[in-house]
Amino acid sequence: MAKQGNIQIASENMMPIIKKWLYSDKDIFLREIVANAADAITKFKKLTDMGECPADENAPRIEVRVDKAAKTLTVEDNGIGMTEEEVEKYITQIAFSGAADFLSKYEKAGGEGIIGHFGLGFYSAYMISENIEIYTKSYKEDAPAVHWQSDGESTYTIDECDYARRGTKIVMHIAAEEKEFLEQATVRGLLEKYCAFMPYPIYLDPAGKEEDKPVNDTQPLYLKNPKDCTDEEYLAFYRQVFHDYHDPLLWIHLNMDYPFRLKGILYFPKVKNKVELERGKVKLYCNQVFIADNIKEVIPEYLLLLNGVIDCPDIPLNVSRSFLQNDRQVQKISKHIVKKVADKLTGLYKTDREKYDTSWADLSVFIKVGCLKDEDFYAKVKDIVIFKDLNGTYKNLEEFRAEQQPAQSGGEPAAKEAQEKEEGGEKKEAEKPVTVYYVSDEVGQAQYISMFRAAGLNAIVCDSFVDPHYISYVEYKESGKFRFLRIDADVDAALKEGASDEEADKALSEAFSKALSVEGVSVKVERFKTKEIPAVINVAEFSRRFREMSAFYGMEGADVDGEMTLVLNAANPVVQAFSGLDEERQGVVARQVYYLAKLSYKKLSPKEMENFSLNTVRMLEKFIG
Ligand code: ADP
Repeated sequence: MAKQGNIQIASENMMPIIKKWLYSDKDIFLREIVANAADAITKFKKLTDMGECPADENAPRIEVRVDKAAKTLTVEDNGIGMTEEEVEKYITQIAFSGAADFLSKYEKAGGEGIIGHFGLGFYSAYMISENIEIYTKSYKEDAPAVHWQSDGESTYTIDECDYARRGTKIVMHIAAEEKEFLEQATVRGLLEKYCAFMPYPIYLDPAGKEEDKPVNDTQPLYLKNPKDCTDEEYLAFYRQVFHDYHDPLLWIHLNMDYPFRLKGILYFPKVKNKVELERGKVKLYCNQVFIADNIKEVIPEYLLLLNGVIDCPDIPLNVSRSFLQNDRQVQKISKHIVKKVADKLTGLYKTDREKYDTSWADLSVFIKVGCLKDEDFYAKVKDIVIFKDLNGTYKNLEEFRAEQQPAQSGGEPAAKEAQEKEEGGEKKEAEKPVTVYYVSDEVGQAQYISMFRAAGLNAIVCDSFVDPHYISYVEYKESGKFRFLRIDADVDAALKEGASDEEADKALSEAFSKALSVEGVSVKVERFKTKEIPAVINVAEFSRRFREMSAFYGMEGADVDGEMTLVLNAANPVVQAFSGLDEERQGVVARQVYYLAKLSYKKLSPKEMENFSLNTVRMLEKFIG
């Protein structure tokens, strides 16, 4: 006769609460049931290893079966099994009280979330089942097989049965409103997500044929010793886990046992823009059981730009996120991961600079964002942040600085420097920031670039969305060392030649300004080394950056041009001839020179484009007439 009993739990209303809170995460039930099956197999293996019971000739396996007609989902293992007392103890008492305990923690956490809802265990299957049966037979030879069943609310029955084999079969009678869990595809999806690396083969609806293949990889690559892994294996693992057919160039294999256990592989995916960047995913596992994606408390947010797998059995998982945030152990783990990433990148920089340079396009955004988010990371990697220069060579800022210093001590600054030396001595000179010119658009700023090249000046390319933030950060962190100027922010002394005639220049700029009469544009005269270019537009670095930042944060009025300077080249024949022209011609020439300069600075607005065309036609008319 079946024994009956009342389930001794604090709250009879546990189920509605669990269903409400965990609704979005109810998928985890399958992980919990399959993980229990895997644990049962491990326990059995331990016993046989210790000689406590004879080994099984059958290989360990877990079977998951969907029966639509019977409306059941079954998980069966050939693990340790349970005796009647054990079922009473572990299932009726512990599993239920464990769930009650979990709920109270969840309540304390203010519903803010317990990582991956780990720890709900067997009871979680009631989120989708109206009834659950357990058939189990212990490894203990004379223990009879046991059948237990309960609706999870208040009562259960337990009796002997004729389940013949050692192990446990959990039969979940799926509730009417949860019938998606009777779809093989849904179940497969859940197994692939949560059980992909579980240590024993899991077969979904096996036909008992040879071609049956487990849904999981019981020996995921990250468990292997890094020394024994080949590049092909790393790439195959990446494709298997991330279904991304753009191979990553670099990866980091983490493997440590002390002072905590941590294994995993982090890949640097190919990233081109901000949108793609947000697609990174770091999957957190605990003993080969998937917990959740992108747990910020364990893996710093900027590392979540990477794709990877981290298995860390030492993270306390059945606690709230705020607990994780303040847990020393978790902080150590997180810091360690950051350190490893920095070490790996530094190692590559030092040992294989060629590969580092070619991988830079993929690394760059990730490293710079990391620097902005974490000063410790910045301190570790700042010297391996490199920039392409106008010759296509990659350099770090120190290298660039060393190269620029002699070039910049020519001309005007040299005089200033000498003066400073007299005033403040050596120290003052050392603190003088080195100007680093940068290009944000190699095509758009081609005219400035060619002037730079002709004058033997160099600049770095800063064309990613993170660069403006990064250079401001460097100026702030390395205060007094660097001053970044976009190539169109001013006319460097090295681009100029010869003495200026202040009075003549003043007269010219006034006349030009009058002829041009465009608001917000002031005119200035300089003598360039190159004769070809009549004028360039300069916009002060500070105000341009300010507007760019405002635009970045979506502030109003951010896209207006702001104050511009039109720098006329006194060496150019058109500029030289300007004063001798009649008023009408001066107007046409001034506008044409301005539009040409503006075109080399940025795209013209539709109105400016129209005016530019009209002005060009006027000029042609003068030319033929
Ligand atoms: P936890 O796994 O966290 O201990 P569960 O509620 O999932 O909590 O399970 C309670 C206990 O029931 C387990 O610790 C184990 O002793 C027993 N158990 C559950 N599933 C099985 C199984 N498939 N085979 C053997 N024992 C099991």
